Amino acid sequence: MSCRFRQAPSDQAFVSRIVIAGGGLAGGLAALALARRRPEVELLVIDQGADFGGNHTWSFFDTDIPPDTRWVLDGIDAVRWTDHEIRFPRRRRTIPIGYNSIRSAALDAALKGSLRPAQYRLGTEIAGFGPTEVQLANGETIAADAVIDARGPGPMPGQQLGWQKFVGRLYRFPTPHKVARPIIMDATVPQHDGYRFVYYLPMSATQVLIEDTYYSAGAALDRDALRQRLEQAAAALGAGEPAVEDEEHGVLPVVMGGDFDALWPNSDPIPRLGLRGGFFHPTTSYSLPDAAANAAWLAAQTDYSAAALTTGLRARGAKMWRERGFYRLLNRMLFRAAEPDQSYRVLEHFYRLPPGPIARFYAGRLTAFDKLRVLTGKPPVPIGRALSAIFREAA
Ligand SMILES: Cc1cc2nc3c(=O)[nH]c(=O)nc-3n(C[C@H](O)[C@H](O)[C@H](O)COP(=O)(O)OP(=O)(O)OC[C@H]3O[C@@H](n4cnc5c(N)ncnc54)[C@H](O)[C@@H]3O)c2cc1C
Repeated sequence: MSCRFRQAPSDQAFVSRIVIAGGGLAGGLAALALARRRPEVELLVIDQGADFGGNHTWSFFDTDIPPDTRWVLDGIDAVRWTDHEIRFPRRRRTIPIGYNSIRSAALDAALKGSLRPAQYRLGTEIAGFGPTEVQLANGETIAADAVIDARGPGPMPGQQLGWQKFVGRLYRFPTPHKVARPIIMDATVPQHDGYRFVYYLPMSATQVLIEDTYYSAGAALDRDALRQRLEQAAAALGAGEPAVEDEEHGVLPVVMGGDFDALWPNSDPIPRLGLRGGFFHPTTSYSLPDAAANAAWLAAQTDYSAAALTTGLRARGAKMWRERGFYRLLNRMLFRAAEPDQSYRVLEHFYRLPPGPIARFYAGRLTAFDKLRVLTGKPPVPIGRALSAIFREAA
């Protein structure tokens, strides 16, 4: 069975037809941006889930999103805090940079409120696709001018990887807790399996999302062990016996070195968004800022052919890859320059910096001078191991 996915209304001529394969974070933001700014582009978002976005809490710093990109997030319910905190054995700070979180349900609501029913298909598995057609698991084929691959994490050939892995639980307490602001890293906890920290997000006066997080050499995730540690962290808040309202987990790649061409071969004719295209912060694995920037870029295009979108998006990915080499170096220091139980010292040292460079670090926009400042000062790890870690990038 083959079809064009929608007839243009008689009063409107569509200039191009785009299928977005995957209605997660990147595909969802791209769809919202196109629907708002380019109504003349015929759009279809396909996702296998019953709703858009899966089950995530996506966070970002105020300074991650440039003012000219902010509109992409308009209409999506977010929780915002005016500052955030970090805790290390020898450093504890409140950093005056705002922090925001969006739950998957908020992206789902925004998409269902903005797209017409004919512009999306949920509960629909994609079995395969090329640059101008998508095959569904039910045997249907849908033709388009361009199919964009936004199916989330995929294989990462040719990369040196470590892993950021976590289990998070949204707890509701019977009495108000005392977590005043997001604690994005509490590394005062016992260290296990690499660099460990606990993350606290006070979603309301009685709700806290707590994540037990590890930067580890291996991807294995012992969810039961992490759940037990989360129970201890929740009990330590002293706000009574909590109920678990939700749980999420993740095993995200942390790139220490490698080759962009292996990740996204030049010969691949399919445009990509999101983790599929390498659009994520190499150290934090946050991808919302890149997803918003790409959505804004997409909405500003004039040529929506698969070839033009592939060329444009791949060039953006390659540029980010080049510009973010310093983060891969920092990752090597985090994973290799110290004994695993001492890795936290790399970030403890980093957090001596003022808010300006910290904001640019989060946003992936460190200047050459910032990079120098990150690396100078009393070395937090043995200098010989640090140098060997620095110079061991494959490409
Ligand atoms: C639990 C968790 C928390 C995270 N927290 C943050 C955070 O705080 N901030 C941040 O910036 N990043 C965070 N990340 C990292 C990253 O931003 C997310 O993984 C983000 O969702 C990636 O966006 P994406 O669009 O590339 O992929 P996804 O959001 O995973 O979207 C991919 C979509 O494609 C669909 N799909 C895949 N295959 C098919 C198929 N064959 N047929 C049909 N549909 C298909 C999936 O159902 C999914 O909806 C987190 C990741 C996880 C796992």
